[in-house]
Amino acid sequence: MSEALKETKFLIKKYKIKANKNLGQNFLIDDSALQDIVDGANIKENDLVIEIGPGLGSLTKLLLEKAKKVICIELDKKMVKILKERFSIYKNLEIINDDVLKINLEELIKTEKENDNNIKNVKVVANLPYYITTPIIMKLIENNLDIESITVMIQKEVAERLIAIPGTKETGAITYTVYYYCECKKIREVENTCFIPEPEVTSEVINLKVRKEPSVQVKDKKVMFNIIKSAYMQRRKTLVNSLTNVGVFQNKEQGVEILKKIGLREDIRPENIKIEDFAKLTDVFLDNIKNNF
Ligand code: SAM
Repeated sequence: MSEALKETKFLIKKYKIKANKNLGQNFLIDDSALQDIVDGANIKENDLVIEIGPGLGSLTKLLLEKAKKVICIELDKKMVKILKERFSIYKNLEIINDDVLKINLEELIKTEKENDNNIKNVKVVANLPYYITTPIIMKLIENNLDIESITVMIQKEVAERLIAIPGTKETGAITYTVYYYCECKKIREVENTCFIPEPEVTSEVINLKVRKEPSVQVKDKKVMFNIIKSAYMQRRKTLVNSLTNVGVFQNKEQGVEILKKIGLREDIRPENIKIEDFAKLTDVFLDNIKNNF
């Protein structure tokens, strides 16, 4: 029997745990999956690791052996109590009982680095609660946090959308945002039988390495992401039609002209457009506005 399964069963019995579905509690009980998450995160001895949703601590246990310090953020009070008891001998663990979406991570990281000059890099590692995967990842990548990488297990379908190369079949609006900020790679799939209780979906571990410079230069990234979102609201339509409908193009003729200018066919659909082309489109759009005033 795997070590993690043994420990999880023991803790469930000892503390009379009933996994809380509303908090996305599916405990990972597969040693090889746990090890692959830790290996994928490539933790070094001077790293600060932030673990989101430690639960009963099966991942935490491995992280504590590798990192200089582990800060766990866990919403469930009951889990916090168990973690405190289970890891009482570790001096490099801090547990924050709060909602990760409400925490000021910028401040947290800044303070940790100021308090310990030896901390080199900050890495986020987690088996995320799936009901808030997207807001957590957006919070981590959009706020220019001082983070080197994010290694997380999430639902497979979401993972494949996040790490797709923009302009390929799996692309969604969110793909561009992730690609803009991060280099992405898949670590492995994890079957639902590797959890207690079993989730209904297959999972996937991914690694997002935060880029030092964004993947593309654009005059205004907010405007670009709004244009991308508008385009993907009607992903089956041609780009010209969807962007004309939402008023990015004044009319279809203007849209066709702009696409021509940046070298795109007039019948192109959003899911075939690379981020570089959305960046060019944004720049032309902004120049047009400027010239009209
Ligand atoms: N890391 C553990 C494991 O791999 O077995 C548990 C992972 S479980 C999928 C997700 C964990 O996130 C749960 O412990 C849950 O209580 C916690 N959680 C849910 N919502 C949260 C939130 N908003 N902020 C922090 N933790 C949260």
